[in-house]
Parts: sequence; C-alpha cells; structure tokens
Amino acid sequence: MLIGGIEAGGTKFVCAVGEESGEIIAKTSFPTEEPAETFQEVKRFFHSHKVEAIGIGCFGPVDLDKKSATYGMILNTPKTKWKQYDVLTKLKSDLKVPVYIDTDVNAAALAEYKYGAGRDVNNCMYITVGTGIGAGYVQDGETYVGKSHPEMGHVLIQQHKDDPFTGCCPYHGNCLEGLASGPAIEQRYGKKGAQLAADRNVWELEAYYLAQAIMNYVLVLSPERIILGGGVMKQKQLYPLIRRKVLDLVNDYVGIDNVDTFIVAPKLHDEQGVRGAMALVSSD
Ligand code: ADP
Ligand code: ZN
Repeated sequence: MLIGGIEAGGTKFVCAVGEESGEIIAKTSFPTEEPAETFQEVKRFFHSHKVEAIGIGCFGPVDLDKKSATYGMILNTPKTKWKQYDVLTKLKSDLKVPVYIDTDVNAAALAEYKYGAGRDVNNCMYITVGTGIGAGYVQDGETYVGKSHPEMGHVLIQQHKDDPFTGCCPYHGNCLEGLASGPAIEQRYGKKGAQLAADRNVWELEAYYLAQAIMNYVLVLSPERIILGGGVMKQKQLYPLIRRKVLDLVNDYVGIDNVDTFIVAPKLHDEQGVRGAMALVSSD
C-alpha cells in the first residue's frame, strides 16, 4: 500500500509518498506559510499522489493526548496564525484517509531508529539543533509521548559565567533553546552560525550548553544512542567537543562504553523527518 508522510516544520513542509518499507517515490517541499495556504499545497500534492494513510510529524507544541478534546491541535506556538490550529481534523477532512500524528522530532527519531543511525539499538534519542531545539525518543519501535509530549529543548541549564547573552526563548529566556539554538547564536554574535565556522570559542560555548542538556537526558532516559541533527550540527567540529564535555560531566557515574558510537550524526541526510512521518503509519 502507498502511504504518505508530512514533515510539518516551522520553516518548511515536506510531503512524500512511498512504500510501507520506507522507500520514497515522490517528494516535494514548500515554505510554511499561514495554515490555509500551506494545507492547500499539501492537498494539491496528495491529490496527485493517492495514498491510503498519512503520518505527520508536526512542529509544536501539539496536543497528542488522545483523550483530549483538542487532540491533534497546535497549542502555544509563537507563530500566531498556527495557534489552536487543528492540524489533524484539517488533514482528515481534506484527504479522507487515516492520519497519524506525532512530533517532528519523534518522527525523526523513529526514522533513524528504523532506517538510520539507531538501527542497531533498542532505543535512541534524536535531537535537532536548528531554529529551535527539540528532542524525540523511541523505545522498542514506539515513540515516547507522555501526557502530551516532552519539550526537551527547553530544559534549564547553567549559563556560562562569561556569556552575557540573556537568551532568546520567548517563554523562558535562557533555557537550552534560548542559549543554544541557531537564532541564539545569531543574536549573541550578530552573525549566522555558518559564518562563524572558524571561531573556536563559539563552538566551545555551544558544546558547553548542549553537553549539559545531554547529561540531563542521559540521567533521565538512559538512552542507548543520541543522534544530533539540525542546521547548527552542520558544524561537524561540535561532535568531538560535545562528546568530550559529556564524558567530563557524567564523570563515569553512568557507563558510556564508546562515546563515538553513543553521540552520533544522523544517517538519513535530512530525510529523517518525512521518512519518520511515513513510519508513523506502520508503527501505530
Ligand atoms: P529548522 O530548525 O528551521 O527546521 P534547520 O535545522 O536547518 O531548520 O536550522 C536552521 C538554523 O540552523 C538557523 O538558525 C541557521 O542559522 C542554522 N544553521 C544552518 N546551517 C548552519 C551551519 N552550516 N552552521 C551553523 N548553523 C547553521
Ligand atoms: Zn524555552
């Protein structure tokens, strides 16, 4: 059977159609505009690519409590036009097929678990460090949702004593996302991360923040593997810096056998979001 996947990101939407095995047959992407225009594009794509079911990995926060009256609705986003937008009902009524919804990062974690960097483990985390910071977690092929879903990008961490930046999270100021997202880097230094590639101090500080969060995730979830993706992680020098700082922080309290295979890059080359969305159909 043909299934569809939608990676619904705050910056862009990716739609794909493919086989249940995860192979993509056709794919498109377009910028995230206001909901009506964006779903018009979604409808157009799936009108010419018929599918029997669709999975959507959605930016959030989104209500994932199946018992809730607002299940499948976007909640408290700074994108005002999307606030209280009922993504699930809209897709079901436009496309007339079963729709499975989860967070964008849970979908990405699921794809890496099934087809990518988490294939050989029983559980893994996927963390995106991009416009925002978010993390998803998969255990034995099931994404972890909880009451609604975790928001691990907003954990509180210790600010570096030499960092005067007050943080850019509209809700918490200097939470992890407020200090270490792509926009945080840009606002702190007045330049985009890509233009700061050669400045070692930038990436030392970035790794300082990300390692603290990873230390906390290790203590709370005890994951077998941590996959770090997103635009900021295009700075490959971050991986060894983060690995070293995580080892320092954990300080042998919990065993990390091989940090090089514990903290890794994604393997699905920016397709984890949409392939994970497709995988939501068969994992439900
Ligand atoms: P999104 O999170 O919006 O889905 P991305 O994961 O591509 O998209 O993240 C975008 C963020 O990543 C931006 O803040 C951008 O400045 C930053 N970014 C993109 N490429 C790089 C790079 N090569 N080095 C550092 N930061 C980058
Ligand atoms: Zn926050």
